[in-house]
Amino acid sequence: MPVPGVGDYDDQNVFAKILRGEIPCRRIYEDLHALAFHDIAPQAPLHVLVIPKGRYVSFADFAAKGGEDEIAGFVRAVGHVASQLGLDAPGYRLLSNMGRDGGQEVPHFHVHLFGGAMLGRMVSLPSA
Ligand code: AMP
Repeated sequence: MPVPGVGDYDDQNVFAKILRGEIPCRRIYEDLHALAFHDIAPQAPLHVLVIPKGRYVSFADFAAKGGEDEIAGFVRAVGHVASQLGLDAPGYRLLSNMGRDGGQEVPHFHVHLFGGAMLGRMVSLPSA
């Protein structure tokens, strides 16, 4: 079974379908390099996903193969979305799951943006 985050890009992944307009999303922001929309199963009062428009499987793939303009544009888009949502003052958390140990499910690079509440400290391992 393929490990999400590693290998060839799958054009049938759910975020590819959202980018092509084949399935809907609750869009927050879009520009040349990025699309931001609400997570379908929010894990914080505000839980937004920001994805690049290019065909990148994971953070590792984007970091290795993304163009300078794509990387800069994506990072600026994440910052813009957080500001647009009023999160600069209270703060927020960014997270990107990568591969098996990261728990990545959708094999199109994305950043989770969490906010709207005190989020606690970092990560916890699943209980045995
Ligand atoms: P990850 O485990 O980092 O790959 O997270 C994938 C995220 O995508 C999860 O938080 C899902 O709830 C979210 N997700 C899956 N399908 C959709 C969808 N159609 N629209 C919005 N969010 C989605």
